[in-house]
Amino acid sequence: MNTIVTQDVELAAATLKEGGLVAFPTETVFGLGASAFQPNAVSRIFQAKNRPQDNPLIVHIAHRNQIAEVCEVIPEAARVLIDAFFPGPLTLVVPAAPTLPSVVTASLGTVGIRMPDHDVANAFLRACGEPVAAPSANRSGRPSPTTWEAVMDDLDGRVDVILRGDASRVGLESTVVDCTGKEPIILRPGSISLEDLKMVHPGTRMSDAADVVSHRSPGTRHRHYRPEADVVVVSSPSKTEGRSGYAYIGLESPEKGLYDGPIRVPGDVSTYARDLFHFFRTCEKAGINRIECQRVGLEGMGRALMDRLQRAASPE
Ligand code: AMP
Ligand code: MG
Repeated sequence: MNTIVTQDVELAAATLKEGGLVAFPTETVFGLGASAFQPNAVSRIFQAKNRPQDNPLIVHIAHRNQIAEVCEVIPEAARVLIDAFFPGPLTLVVPAAPTLPSVVTASLGTVGIRMPDHDVANAFLRACGEPVAAPSANRSGRPSPTTWEAVMDDLDGRVDVILRGDASRVGLESTVVDCTGKEPIILRPGSISLEDLKMVHPGTRMSDAADVVSHRSPGTRHRHYRPEADVVVVSSPSKTEGRSGYAYIGLESPEKGLYDGPIRVPGDVSTYARDLFHFFRTCEKAGINRIECQRVGLEGMGRALMDRLQRAASPE
C-alpha cells in the first residue's frame, strides 16, 4: 500500500469514508482513524498496528450532538465532565449504543468517547461527518507518536493517509475515565489530572487492582510504550561514569560526561511529558542501549508521566 502524506483534510476525510485508514494529529498523540460504523475498516486498524483484539478503541467526535450516535445513555457524571472538559484530552467511558460495532468496543458494552481540542483534528472530524474510531497511530507496544514522522516510521505502507500536523502539544494519551458507575474512576491518567477532575466531581478516584480484575480497562494489561532500548526509572541522574550507549531525561541536570547519549532536561513536568515519547524515538535512532528517566512526584500531570515511565520500564 502506498501511504499518502498530506495536509488536505477533505482528501483524508474522503479516504476514511471509503473505508480507508487515516492517521491524524491531535493535542495528545497522533491517532489512527477508521469509520466507527464500518467494522471492516476498524478491523484494518488492528492489522496495521498488530493490536490485540481485546483492546477497545476511542471514538472521536467533532460535535456534542454526535454523542447520541455512539452512546446509549449519557450518565450524569459524564454530563458534568463533558461540560467541564470537552473538547479536551479526556476520554469518557459510557454505555455503548447497541448499533456500534463490537470490534470498536472489544465487546465490552461500553464506549470511550473523546472530542479533541485541536484545529486540524476537528476540521478532519467535521469533514468526516461521522464518529471516527481511533487508537494511537503506533505499532502496538511502541511509544505513541507525537509527530507525523513517527507515524511514518511505524506505519508507512500500512495506512492510506497520514494527515500532517505539528507535534502534539500534550504528548501523552488522554485521561480515560469510567463514567458507568456511581463515581467516576480514572482508568488511565493523563494531562487532565485527578485533582482537575475532583474539582468538578469530588467523588472521582483512581482505579485500583479490583477494577482491573473486573476487566474495566483491558488495554492497560498489554505491553506499552516501549522503545528499542531499556528504560530505567531513576531517582536522580547518575553520579558515576556510565557504560556507553546511555541516555538521560529528567528535571535535574546530570554532571558533564556521565552520559554519552542524548540528554534532555525539560523545564517542568508538562514539558517532560510532552517530550518523552519523542525522546524515546530519538534514542532508538541513535542506537542507545539504556534510557535513564528521572522520577517525578505524583501531583497533577506527574501521575500520568510516572504511569507511562513505569509501563515503558516494567520487565517483559
Ligand atoms: P489508545 O488510544 O491506543 O491508547 O487506546 C485506547 C485506550 O482507551 C484503550 O487501551 C483503553 O485503555 C481505553 N478504552 C477505550 N475504550 C474503552 C472502554 N470501552 N472501556 C475501557 N477502556 C477503554
Ligand atoms: Mg495506544
